[in-house]
Amino acid sequence: MSYAIPSWDLPSVPVVGSEDRFPVRRIYCIGRNYAAHAREMGADEREPPFFFLKPGDAIVQNGATIPYPPATENFHYEAELVAAIGKGGANISVDDANDHIFGYGVGIDLTRRDLQEEAKGMRRPWDMGKGFDASAPCSEIYPAATIGHPTAGAITLTVNGETRQSGDIGDMIWNMPESVAYLSGLVTLEPGDLIYTGTPEGVGAVNRGEEIVVHVDGVCDLTLKIA
Ligand code: MN
Repeated sequence: MSYAIPSWDLPSVPVVGSEDRFPVRRIYCIGRNYAAHAREMGADEREPPFFFLKPGDAIVQNGATIPYPPATENFHYEAELVAAIGKGGANISVDDANDHIFGYGVGIDLTRRDLQEEAKGMRRPWDMGKGFDASAPCSEIYPAATIGHPTAGAITLTVNGETRQSGDIGDMIWNMPESVAYLSGLVTLEPGDLIYTGTPEGVGAVNRGEEIVVHVDGVCDLTLKIA
């Protein structure tokens, strides 16, 4: 097989304990999955989950430095637990959902909040607020075979060492199996898909020259610098 233009490498992240990398296909993100964050964004607490996408090549490696993105003056961090789908499927049951998860990582759902808010106000899509270049930093993936399926534990985010977000992944409105099951009723999940599972309260702006560190208990730390 040959292509009419030069092809490119699959986006990927390392797998801990392996020489192999995890190839990234689609990046699904859950909106408002922690009650206190839903409240700070002006929503009710137990609406059905909703999803948006980032392109797979928005992935940024752990420890990277990214440029401050264009077209925003309100660039926000959102600390999130990431699930990596190893086995695809449609209409997956809650009971079976963990069998489809290869492992877990730590991510940031970077957001051009001003563009997102403008889109909300005009009833337009969120893509340019959420799915821009380098908008999906993700750590290495820890296989569930090694760390299990985390259901509770601290999720924190610091900017230049100052704590900005401090939550617990046990406080997700829709837990991981419920989220996988619900999403798989909307689209057929495929190996390589990532699910960013929403952020706790305390979202805010990050500026040029600052360093973000996200920690999830039982998974790892993710570091990102803004040039
Ligand atoms: Mn988010």
